[in-house]
Amino acid sequence: MQSVSAEMRSLGKTMTLVPTMGAFHNGHISLMEHARKLSDFVVVSIFVNPLQFGPDEDFKVYPRRMEEDRALAENAGCDILFCPAVEEMYPAGFQTRVFVEQVTKPLCGSNRPGHFQGVTTVVTKLFNTVRPHKAVFGLKDYQQWLAIGRIVYDLNMDVELIGHPIVREPDGLAMSSRNFYLSAGDRKAAGAIYKALSSAQDMTAQGERSVMSIKRSVSDILSAYSQMQIDYISLCHPETLDEIKELREKTLLAVAVRIGKTRLIDNCLLLPGKCE
Ligand code: AMP
Repeated sequence: MQSVSAEMRSLGKTMTLVPTMGAFHNGHISLMEHARKLSDFVVVSIFVNPLQFGPDEDFKVYPRRMEEDRALAENAGCDILFCPAVEEMYPAGFQTRVFVEQVTKPLCGSNRPGHFQGVTTVVTKLFNTVRPHKAVFGLKDYQQWLAIGRIVYDLNMDVELIGHPIVREPDGLAMSSRNFYLSAGDRKAAGAIYKALSSAQDMTAQGERSVMSIKRSVSDILSAYSQMQIDYISLCHPETLDEIKELREKTLLAVAVRIGKTRLIDNCLLLPGKCE
């Protein structure tokens, strides 16, 4: 990959990287199609990164669909599919970690210790290997987006980051490889996540400014399904992720739930200024 990249660069070609863990859905495809418009070459990486899974998480059973993924990526305009093995990424003796302090602490950081360190470490390796000019990430993983923004800025990485809007199913559920785990009943319950976010946006548009009222409404909508367990509902500053006390400015509403063993996240922006 490094020598292919060096060759591209010597020819003056630009490259955009779309890092993924595979099991493609239309969210991934949309990122690839966007990448296609940004540069001469699109590199898509597939790497189920053991460093970002906790000991009780789904690393072993995470869906791996190489053949289907290859066809989908090709169809979406991918030029190079980069699928390193775990031993290539983390050979014996590997001991370096990239760690972002503040924005990785709250939200998923408190529920998934070590997760973001795994993400920022692997993304650093991917950037150093592929050496892309640009990289596209989905805003579904909003906290990940912020953490990657930090490593690029703080460590002077020469890559332009592009955030891509959340791609949703017809009922609003954010597309995710983990949706493959859901039973029909759980899939139906998962639709409540988007309903809860939309209802918070409606409340904000109608003038609601109480964080407590919005959180209660989100919680009520989610809790209507007995299989839904709430990990967190957060109203926070979209750049620092500090919890806010009153809805005055653009605010991130982020939620994480567990439905059975499946953990799902989603987010949206609340824009209180808009109706004033
Ligand atoms: P993953 O394979 O889940 O690690 O995701 C790879 C990339 O796709 C990440 O940048 C994700 O944020 C992005 N992504 C995953 N699902 C969606 C979605 N529903 N909409 C937009 N981007 C997504």
